[in-house]
Amino acid sequence: MLSADIIWSRALPLLKPQMTDASYDNWIVSLVPLRIEEGNVFVLKTLSTVYRDTLQRFYTSVIERSLRDAGEAEFTVRFTTEEEEAARPAAREKPVSCPTLNEKYTFDTFVRGESNRFAYAAALAVAENPSAAYNPLFIYGGVGLGKTHLMQAIGQYIFSEHKDYKILYITSENFTNDVVASIERKDRASLRAKYRTLDVLLIDDIQFIGGREATELEFFNVFNDLRDANKQIIITSDKHPKDLQTLEARIRTRCAWGLVVDIQPPDYETRLAILRRKAQEDGIDIKDEVLTMIAERVSSNIRELEGCLNRVVAYARFVNKPVTVTVAESVLKDYVGGTSHRSVNGELIKQVVCDYYGITYKDIESSRRDHRFAYPRQIAMYLARVLVDSSYQEIGDMFGGRHYSTVMHACETIESRAQTDAKLKKTLDDITEKVKNG
Ligand code: ADP
Ligand code: MG
Repeated sequence: MLSADIIWSRALPLLKPQMTDASYDNWIVSLVPLRIEEGNVFVLKTLSTVYRDTLQRFYTSVIERSLRDAGEAEFTVRFTTEEEEAARPAAREKPVSCPTLNEKYTFDTFVRGESNRFAYAAALAVAENPSAAYNPLFIYGGVGLGKTHLMQAIGQYIFSEHKDYKILYITSENFTNDVVASIERKDRASLRAKYRTLDVLLIDDIQFIGGREATELEFFNVFNDLRDANKQIIITSDKHPKDLQTLEARIRTRCAWGLVVDIQPPDYETRLAILRRKAQEDGIDIKDEVLTMIAERVSSNIRELEGCLNRVVAYARFVNKPVTVTVAESVLKDYVGGTSHRSVNGELIKQVVCDYYGITYKDIESSRRDHRFAYPRQIAMYLARVLVDSSYQEIGDMFGGRHYSTVMHACETIESRAQTDAKLKKTLDDITEKVKNG
Protein backbone atom coordinates (compact mmCIF):
# COMPACT_ATOMS: atom_id res chain seq x y z
CA MET A 1 0.00 0.00 0.00
CA LEU A 2 1.06 3.59 -0.57
CA SER A 3 2.32 5.58 2.39
CA ALA A 4 0.05 7.89 4.36
CA ASP A 5 1.92 10.90 2.96
CA ILE A 6 1.38 9.95 -0.62
CA ILE A 7 -2.27 9.06 -0.20
CA TRP A 8 -2.89 12.30 1.65
CA SER A 9 -1.21 14.36 -1.04
CA ARG A 10 -3.50 12.71 -3.56
CA ALA A 11 -6.59 13.17 -1.40
CA LEU A 12 -6.12 16.93 -0.89
CA PRO A 13 -6.97 17.96 -4.45
CA LEU A 14 -10.04 15.73 -4.25
CA LEU A 15 -11.16 17.33 -1.01
CA LYS A 16 -10.70 20.92 -2.03
CA PRO A 17 -13.53 21.22 -4.56
CA GLN A 18 -15.94 19.64 -2.10
CA MET A 19 -15.87 22.51 0.37
CA THR A 20 -15.55 26.26 0.55
CA ASP A 21 -12.06 27.71 0.42
CA ALA A 22 -12.47 29.04 3.92
CA SER A 23 -13.33 25.63 5.38
CA TYR A 24 -10.56 24.00 3.44
CA ASP A 25 -8.00 26.50 4.69
CA ASN A 26 -9.24 26.40 8.22
CA TRP A 27 -9.82 22.70 8.74
CA ILE A 28 -7.96 20.68 6.18
CA VAL A 29 -4.68 22.42 5.45
CA SER A 30 -3.32 22.01 8.96
CA LEU A 31 -3.94 18.26 9.10
CA VAL A 32 -0.85 16.06 9.17
CA PRO A 33 -1.04 12.47 7.90
CA LEU A 34 0.81 10.32 10.43
CA ARG A 35 0.41 6.71 9.44
CA ILE A 36 -1.94 3.96 8.45
CA GLU A 37 -2.71 1.59 11.29
CA GLU A 38 -3.90 -1.95 11.10
CA GLY A 39 -7.35 -2.30 9.59
CA ASN A 40 -6.79 0.69 7.27
CA VAL A 41 -7.15 3.27 9.97
CA PHE A 42 -5.81 6.52 8.58
CA VAL A 43 -4.42 8.65 11.38
CA LEU A 44 -4.47 12.43 10.99
CA LYS A 45 -3.00 14.84 13.49
CA THR A 46 -5.04 17.95 14.31
CA LEU A 47 -4.08 21.20 15.99
CA SER A 48 -6.09 20.76 19.19
CA THR A 49 -8.88 18.83 20.82
CA VAL A 50 -11.35 21.44 19.58
CA TYR A 51 -10.19 20.87 16.05
CA ARG A 52 -10.28 17.15 16.55
CA ASP A 53 -13.86 17.13 17.76
CA THR A 54 -15.15 19.42 15.04
CA LEU A 55 -13.37 17.53 12.31
CA GLN A 56 -14.70 14.28 13.62
CA ARG A 57 -18.21 15.57 13.63
CA PHE A 58 -18.38 17.36 10.31
CA TYR A 59 -15.61 16.21 8.07
CA THR A 60 -15.10 12.51 8.66
CA SER A 61 -17.17 11.25 5.77
CA VAL A 62 -15.88 13.66 3.14
CA ILE A 63 -12.30 12.88 4.14
CA GLU A 64 -12.91 9.15 4.12
CA ARG A 65 -14.41 9.35 0.67
CA SER A 66 -11.45 11.28 -0.71
CA LEU A 67 -8.99 8.92 0.92
CA ARG A 68 -10.72 5.99 -0.67
CA ASP A 69 -10.57 7.61 -4.08
CA ALA A 70 -6.94 8.54 -3.57
CA GLY A 71 -5.69 5.28 -2.13
CA GLU A 72 -8.06 2.80 -3.72
CA ALA A 73 -8.93 1.30 -0.34
CA GLU A 74 -11.57 1.86 2.30
CA PHE A 75 -10.18 3.88 5.19
CA THR A 76 -11.51 4.81 8.57
CA VAL A 77 -10.21 8.14 9.73
CA ARG A 78 -8.96 8.69 13.23
CA PHE A 79 -8.05 12.17 14.40
CA THR A 80 -5.50 12.68 17.07
CA THR A 81 -3.60 15.54 18.68
CA GLU A 82 0.00 16.23 19.60
CA GLU A 83 -0.70 15.34 23.24
CA GLU A 84 -2.38 12.07 22.42
CA GLU A 85 0.52 11.13 20.21
CA ALA A 86 3.03 11.92 22.92
CA ALA A 87 1.12 9.76 25.38
CA ARG A 88 1.15 6.84 22.98
CA PRO A 89 3.25 3.89 24.11
CA ALA A 90 6.51 4.00 22.24
CA ALA A 91 5.84 0.62 20.76
CA ARG A 92 6.47 1.66 17.21
CA GLU A 93 9.21 -0.75 16.32
CA LYS A 94 11.47 0.06 13.47
CA PRO A 95 10.62 -1.89 10.34
CA VAL A 96 13.13 -4.46 9.25
CA SER A 97 15.05 -3.16 6.33
CA CYS A 98 16.19 -4.82 3.18
CA PRO A 99 19.93 -5.43 3.47
CA THR A 100 21.10 -4.12 0.12
CA LEU A 101 19.03 -0.95 0.10
CA ASN A 102 19.64 2.51 1.50
CA GLU A 103 16.77 3.45 3.80
CA LYS A 104 16.90 7.08 2.76
CA TYR A 105 15.91 6.32 -0.78
CA THR A 106 12.15 5.97 -0.67
CA PHE A 107 9.24 7.32 -2.68
CA ASP A 108 8.38 9.56 0.25
CA THR A 109 11.68 11.38 0.06
CA PHE A 110 11.64 11.62 -3.72
CA VAL A 111 10.42 15.01 -4.88
CA ARG A 112 8.27 14.84 -7.95
CA GLY A 113 8.47 17.37 -10.74
CA GLU A 114 7.97 17.73 -14.45
CA SER A 115 11.46 16.36 -15.04
CA ASN A 116 10.84 13.00 -13.39
CA ARG A 117 7.10 12.60 -13.67
CA PHE A 118 7.01 9.66 -16.05
CA ALA A 119 9.89 7.90 -14.38
CA TYR A 120 8.20 8.31 -11.02
CA ALA A 121 4.86 7.03 -12.30
CA ALA A 122 6.47 4.03 -13.95
CA ALA A 123 8.52 3.26 -10.85
CA LEU A 124 5.46 3.38 -8.66
CA ALA A 125 3.54 1.13 -11.04
CA VAL A 126 6.34 -1.43 -10.92
CA ALA A 127 6.58 -1.16 -7.14
CA GLU A 128 2.88 -1.78 -6.78
CA ASN A 129 2.80 -4.64 -9.28
CA PRO A 130 6.20 -6.25 -9.53
CA SER A 131 6.59 -8.54 -12.55
CA ALA A 132 3.22 -7.44 -13.84
CA ALA A 133 3.52 -3.78 -14.82
CA TYR A 134 6.70 -3.42 -16.86
CA ASN A 135 9.54 -5.86 -17.07
CA PRO A 136 12.28 -4.83 -17.26
CA LEU A 137 11.88 -1.23 -16.20
CA PHE A 138 14.74 0.76 -17.65
CA ILE A 139 15.46 4.19 -16.17
CA TYR A 140 18.04 6.41 -17.81
CA GLY A 141 19.32 9.95 -17.38
CA GLY A 142 22.34 12.09 -16.56
CA VAL A 143 24.44 11.80 -13.46
CA GLY A 144 22.97 12.85 -10.11
CA LEU A 145 19.39 13.08 -11.32
CA GLY A 146 17.85 10.47 -9.04
CA LYS A 147 18.10 7.17 -10.89
CA THR A 148 19.60 5.25 -8.00
CA HIS A 149 17.18 6.87 -5.57
CA LEU A 150 14.14 5.94 -7.63
CA MET A 151 15.36 2.43 -8.27
CA GLN A 152 15.96 1.83 -4.59
CA ALA A 153 12.58 3.30 -3.76
CA ILE A 154 11.04 0.55 -5.87
CA GLY A 155 13.04 -2.03 -3.95
CA GLN A 156 12.03 -0.59 -0.56
CA TYR A 157 8.42 -0.50 -1.54
CA ILE A 158 8.36 -4.07 -2.81
CA PHE A 159 10.18 -5.19 0.30
CA SER A 160 7.63 -3.49 2.54
CA GLU A 161 4.85 -5.38 0.79
CA HIS A 162 6.58 -8.73 0.35
CA LYS A 163 8.90 -9.48 3.23
CA ASP A 164 9.66 -12.90 1.78
CA TYR A 165 10.98 -11.57 -1.52
CA LYS A 166 14.64 -11.78 -2.28
CA ILE A 167 15.60 -8.37 -3.52
CA LEU A 168 19.08 -7.55 -4.65
CA TYR A 169 20.45 -4.13 -5.47
CA ILE A 170 23.79 -4.25 -7.20
CA THR A 171 25.92 -1.84 -9.16
CA SER A 172 27.15 -3.19 -12.43
CA GLU A 173 30.67 -2.81 -11.08
CA ASN A 174 29.91 -5.19 -8.25
CA PHE A 175 28.19 -7.49 -10.66
CA THR A 176 31.38 -7.51 -12.69
CA ASN A 177 33.38 -8.29 -9.55
CA ASP A 178 31.05 -11.19 -8.85
CA VAL A 179 31.61 -12.53 -12.32
CA VAL A 180 35.38 -12.15 -12.07
CA ALA A 181 35.42 -13.94 -8.72
CA SER A 182 33.35 -16.79 -10.09
CA ILE A 183 35.75 -17.16 -12.98
CA GLU A 184 38.68 -17.28 -10.58
CA ARG A 185 36.87 -19.94 -8.55
CA LYS A 186 36.09 -21.71 -11.81
CA ASP A 187 32.50 -21.83 -10.69
CA ARG A 188 30.28 -19.87 -12.95
CA ALA A 189 27.36 -22.17 -12.32
CA SER A 190 27.00 -21.03 -8.72
CA LEU A 191 26.96 -17.41 -9.83
CA ARG A 192 24.07 -18.08 -12.08
CA ALA A 193 22.33 -20.10 -9.38
CA LYS A 194 22.70 -17.25 -6.92
CA TYR A 195 21.02 -14.73 -9.18
CA ARG A 196 18.39 -17.16 -10.33
CA THR A 197 16.83 -17.33 -6.86
CA LEU A 198 16.05 -13.60 -6.79
CA ASP A 199 12.58 -12.17 -6.99
CA VAL A 200 13.74 -8.69 -7.83
CA LEU A 201 17.03 -7.62 -9.35
CA LEU A 202 18.02 -3.95 -9.34
CA ILE A 203 21.07 -3.38 -11.45
CA ASP A 204 22.49 0.12 -11.36
CA ASP A 205 24.51 1.87 -14.09
CA ILE A 206 24.43 -0.95 -16.61
CA GLN A 207 26.59 1.06 -19.01
CA PHE A 208 29.66 -0.11 -17.08
CA ILE A 209 29.31 -3.75 -18.02
CA GLY A 210 29.78 -2.87 -21.68
CA GLY A 211 32.83 -4.30 -23.38
CA ARG A 212 33.49 -7.00 -20.79
CA GLU A 213 32.62 -10.16 -22.55
CA ALA A 214 32.27 -12.56 -19.65
CA THR A 215 30.23 -10.07 -17.66
CA GLU A 216 27.95 -9.40 -20.57
CA LEU A 217 27.41 -13.08 -21.12
CA GLU A 218 26.58 -13.70 -17.46
CA PHE A 219 24.26 -10.74 -17.41
CA PHE A 220 22.55 -12.09 -20.48
CA ASN A 221 22.04 -15.43 -18.72
CA VAL A 222 20.78 -13.86 -15.51
CA PHE A 223 18.44 -11.62 -17.45
CA ASN A 224 16.96 -14.54 -19.34
CA ASP A 225 16.64 -16.73 -16.25
CA LEU A 226 14.81 -14.04 -14.33
CA ARG A 227 12.58 -12.94 -17.14
CA ASP A 228 11.64 -16.50 -17.98
CA ALA A 229 10.69 -17.02 -14.35
CA ASN A 230 8.69 -13.78 -14.44
CA LYS A 231 10.87 -12.03 -11.87
CA GLN A 232 11.14 -8.25 -11.86
CA ILE A 233 14.24 -6.60 -13.30
CA ILE A 234 15.00 -2.90 -12.97
CA ILE A 235 17.92 -1.34 -14.77
CA THR A 236 19.43 2.14 -14.76
CA SER A 237 21.86 3.67 -17.17
CA ASP A 238 23.19 7.02 -18.32
CA LYS A 239 21.77 6.49 -21.80
CA HIS A 240 18.84 5.05 -23.69
CA PRO A 241 19.43 1.35 -24.43
CA LYS A 242 19.77 2.01 -28.15
CA ASP A 243 22.67 4.39 -27.43
CA LEU A 244 24.58 1.93 -25.27
CA GLN A 245 26.88 1.13 -28.12
CA THR A 246 29.40 -0.77 -26.03
CA LEU A 247 26.78 -3.33 -25.02
CA GLU A 248 26.04 -6.35 -27.14
CA ALA A 249 23.05 -5.86 -29.37
CA ARG A 250 21.09 -8.70 -27.78
CA ILE A 251 21.41 -7.05 -24.38
CA ARG A 252 20.41 -3.66 -25.74
CA THR A 253 17.28 -5.15 -27.25
CA ARG A 254 16.35 -6.91 -24.05
CA CYS A 255 16.81 -3.74 -22.02
CA ALA A 256 14.11 -2.15 -24.13
CA TRP A 257 11.66 -5.04 -23.89
CA GLY A 258 9.70 -3.57 -21.03
CA LEU A 259 9.40 0.15 -20.47
CA VAL A 260 12.13 2.73 -20.98
CA VAL A 261 11.75 6.02 -19.09
CA ASP A 262 14.09 8.96 -18.65
CA ILE A 263 14.77 11.48 -15.92
CA GLN A 264 15.51 15.01 -17.07
CA PRO A 265 17.47 17.68 -15.22
CA PRO A 266 15.14 19.29 -12.68
CA ASP A 267 13.47 22.60 -13.43
CA TYR A 268 13.71 25.49 -11.01
CA GLU A 269 10.59 24.62 -8.99
CA THR A 270 11.72 21.06 -8.49
CA ARG A 271 15.19 22.19 -7.46
CA LEU A 272 13.71 24.51 -4.89
CA ALA A 273 11.35 21.82 -3.61
CA ILE A 274 14.26 19.41 -3.24
CA LEU A 275 16.29 21.96 -1.30
CA ARG A 276 13.37 22.72 0.99
CA ARG A 277 12.82 19.08 1.66
CA LYS A 278 16.47 18.44 2.34
CA ALA A 279 16.74 21.41 4.70
CA GLN A 280 13.70 20.16 6.53
CA GLU A 281 14.95 16.58 6.69
CA ASP A 282 18.28 17.64 8.10
CA GLY A 283 16.68 20.11 10.48
CA ILE A 284 18.61 23.00 8.97
CA ASP A 285 17.38 26.46 9.84
CA ILE A 286 17.73 28.36 6.61
CA LYS A 287 15.87 31.24 5.00
CA ASP A 288 13.90 30.56 1.89
CA GLU A 289 15.76 33.30 0.04
CA VAL A 290 19.00 31.37 0.45
CA LEU A 291 17.39 28.24 -0.93
CA THR A 292 16.02 30.27 -3.83
CA MET A 293 19.45 31.58 -4.58
CA ILE A 294 21.02 28.13 -4.56
CA ALA A 295 18.23 26.76 -6.74
CA GLU A 296 18.83 29.55 -9.23
CA ARG A 297 22.55 29.14 -9.25
CA VAL A 298 22.91 25.38 -9.39
CA SER A 299 20.97 23.77 -12.16
CA SER A 300 23.03 20.87 -13.39
CA ASN A 301 22.08 18.05 -11.09
CA ILE A 302 20.64 17.17 -7.74
CA ARG A 303 23.79 15.82 -6.23
CA GLU A 304 25.47 19.17 -6.91
CA LEU A 305 22.47 20.94 -5.51
CA GLU A 306 22.65 19.02 -2.25
CA GLY A 307 26.41 19.45 -2.18
CA CYS A 308 26.11 23.22 -2.47
CA LEU A 309 23.52 23.38 0.29
CA ASN A 310 25.81 21.34 2.52
CA ARG A 311 28.78 23.53 1.74
CA VAL A 312 26.87 26.69 2.57
CA VAL A 313 25.57 25.26 5.82
CA ALA A 314 28.95 23.88 6.82
CA TYR A 315 30.61 27.21 6.15
CA ALA A 316 28.02 29.14 8.16
CA ARG A 317 28.57 26.77 11.08
CA PHE A 318 32.28 27.14 10.76
CA VAL A 319 32.25 30.93 10.91
CA ASN A 320 29.45 30.80 13.42
CA LYS A 321 27.04 32.94 11.45
CA PRO A 322 23.44 32.42 10.43
CA VAL A 323 22.94 31.10 6.92
CA THR A 324 22.24 34.29 4.99
CA VAL A 325 22.29 35.10 1.30
CA THR A 326 25.59 36.92 1.80
CA VAL A 327 27.19 33.89 3.37
CA ALA A 328 25.83 31.69 0.59
CA GLU A 329 27.10 34.06 -2.09
CA SER A 330 30.58 34.04 -0.70
CA VAL A 331 30.63 30.25 -0.57
CA LEU A 332 29.23 29.82 -4.05
CA LYS A 333 31.02 32.64 -5.79
CA ASP A 334 33.51 30.28 -7.32
CA TYR A 335 30.91 27.74 -8.19
CA VAL A 336 30.95 27.13 -11.89
CA GLY A 337 29.27 23.78 -12.01
CA GLY A 338 28.81 22.02 -15.32
CA THR A 339 25.90 24.08 -16.50
CA SER A 340 25.35 26.94 -14.12
CA HIS A 341 24.88 30.27 -15.94
CA ARG A 342 22.91 28.34 -18.50
CA SER A 343 20.21 30.98 -18.73
CA VAL A 344 22.86 33.29 -20.18
CA ASN A 345 23.61 30.70 -22.80
CA GLY A 346 19.96 30.18 -23.54
CA GLU A 347 19.57 33.90 -24.15
CA LEU A 348 22.64 33.91 -26.30
CA ILE A 349 21.25 31.14 -28.46
CA LYS A 350 18.02 33.05 -28.90
CA GLN A 351 19.97 36.15 -29.87
CA VAL A 352 22.13 34.36 -32.40
CA VAL A 353 19.18 32.55 -33.97
CA CYS A 354 17.25 35.82 -34.24
CA ASP A 355 20.20 37.50 -35.96
CA TYR A 356 20.66 34.56 -38.28
CA TYR A 357 17.06 34.63 -39.46
CA GLY A 358 16.54 38.35 -39.19
CA ILE A 359 13.63 38.10 -36.79
CA THR A 360 13.07 39.78 -33.45
CA TYR A 361 13.10 38.51 -29.89
CA LYS A 362 9.40 39.10 -29.75
CA ASP A 363 8.86 36.89 -32.77
CA ILE A 364 10.87 34.04 -31.40
CA GLU A 365 9.14 34.17 -28.03
CA SER A 366 5.68 34.60 -29.51
CA SER A 367 3.32 31.75 -30.25
CA ARG A 368 2.99 32.71 -33.93
CA ARG A 369 2.92 29.62 -36.03
CA ASP A 370 4.07 30.88 -39.44
CA HIS A 371 6.99 28.90 -40.65
CA ARG A 372 9.08 32.10 -40.73
CA PHE A 373 9.02 32.22 -36.92
CA ALA A 374 8.16 28.69 -35.92
CA TYR A 375 11.15 27.13 -37.63
CA PRO A 376 13.83 29.37 -36.07
CA ARG A 377 12.08 28.93 -32.74
CA GLN A 378 12.31 25.17 -33.05
CA ILE A 379 15.96 25.44 -33.96
CA ALA A 380 16.69 27.66 -30.98
CA MET A 381 14.86 25.24 -28.68
CA TYR A 382 16.82 22.34 -30.06
CA LEU A 383 20.13 24.14 -29.60
CA ALA A 384 19.24 25.18 -26.07
CA ARG A 385 18.72 21.53 -25.40
CA VAL A 386 21.88 20.31 -27.05
CA LEU A 387 24.31 23.08 -26.16
CA VAL A 388 23.09 24.08 -22.72
CA ASP A 389 21.42 20.85 -21.67
CA SER A 390 18.44 22.79 -20.33
CA SER A 391 15.38 20.81 -19.32
CA TYR A 392 12.39 20.90 -21.64
CA GLN A 393 10.46 22.96 -19.15
CA GLU A 394 13.24 25.50 -18.77
CA ILE A 395 13.33 25.90 -22.51
CA GLY A 396 9.56 26.22 -22.58
CA ASP A 397 9.81 29.02 -20.03
CA MET A 398 12.47 30.71 -22.09
CA PHE A 399 10.17 30.79 -25.11
CA GLY A 400 7.10 32.46 -23.74
CA GLY A 401 6.01 29.80 -21.26
CA ARG A 402 5.42 26.86 -23.53
CA HIS A 403 4.48 23.40 -22.37
CA TYR A 404 7.43 21.05 -22.13
CA SER A 405 5.82 18.64 -24.58
CA THR A 406 5.90 21.35 -27.25
CA VAL A 407 9.63 21.76 -26.68
CA MET A 408 10.15 18.03 -26.73
CA HIS A 409 8.34 17.84 -30.02
CA ALA A 410 10.41 20.69 -31.48
CA CYS A 411 13.65 19.02 -30.42
CA GLU A 412 12.64 15.70 -31.89
CA THR A 413 11.54 17.31 -35.13
CA ILE A 414 14.80 19.16 -35.63
CA GLU A 415 16.90 16.22 -34.57
CA SER A 416 15.27 13.79 -36.95
CA ARG A 417 15.22 16.27 -39.80
CA ALA A 418 18.89 17.07 -39.40
CA GLN A 419 19.66 13.42 -40.05
CA THR A 420 18.59 13.71 -43.67
CA ASP A 421 18.48 17.45 -44.38
CA ALA A 422 22.03 18.57 -45.16
CA LYS A 423 21.04 22.21 -45.35
CA LEU A 424 19.58 22.16 -41.89
CA LYS A 425 22.63 20.33 -40.60
CA LYS A 426 24.82 23.09 -42.00
CA THR A 427 22.60 25.77 -40.47
CA LEU A 428 22.84 24.11 -37.07
CA ASP A 429 26.60 23.92 -37.35
CA ASP A 430 26.85 27.58 -38.35
CA ILE A 431 24.68 28.77 -35.52
CA THR A 432 26.49 26.58 -33.03
CA GLU A 433 29.78 28.03 -34.20
CA LYS A 434 28.44 31.59 -33.70
CA VAL A 435 27.07 30.77 -30.26
CA LYS A 436 30.35 29.26 -29.17
CA ASN A 437 32.81 31.63 -30.75
CA GLY A 438 30.78 34.78 -31.36
P1 ADP B 1 21.88 9.14 -10.07
O1 ADP B 1 21.78 7.71 -9.66
O2 ADP B 1 20.93 9.48 -11.17
O3 ADP B 1 23.27 9.57 -10.39
P2 ADP B 1 21.07 9.62 -7.34
O4 ADP B 1 19.85 8.79 -7.30
O5 ADP B 1 22.28 9.08 -6.70
O6 ADP B 1 21.39 10.03 -8.85
O7 ADP B 1 20.71 11.06 -6.73
C1 ADP B 1 21.69 11.96 -6.27
C2 ADP B 1 21.20 12.61 -4.99
O8 ADP B 1 20.09 13.44 -5.28
C3 ADP B 1 20.72 11.62 -3.96
O9 ADP B 1 21.08 12.10 -2.68
C4 ADP B 1 19.23 11.62 -4.10
O10 ADP B 1 18.58 11.31 -2.90
C5 ADP B 1 18.96 13.03 -4.51
N1 ADP B 1 17.78 13.13 -5.39
C6 ADP B 1 17.73 12.87 -6.72
N2 ADP B 1 16.52 13.07 -7.22
C7 ADP B 1 15.76 13.48 -6.18
C8 ADP B 1 14.39 13.86 -6.06
N3 ADP B 1 13.57 13.87 -7.12
N4 ADP B 1 13.96 14.20 -4.84
C9 ADP B 1 14.79 14.22 -3.77
N5 ADP B 1 16.07 13.88 -3.82
C10 ADP B 1 16.57 13.52 -5.00
MG1 MG C 1 23.29 6.33 -9.49
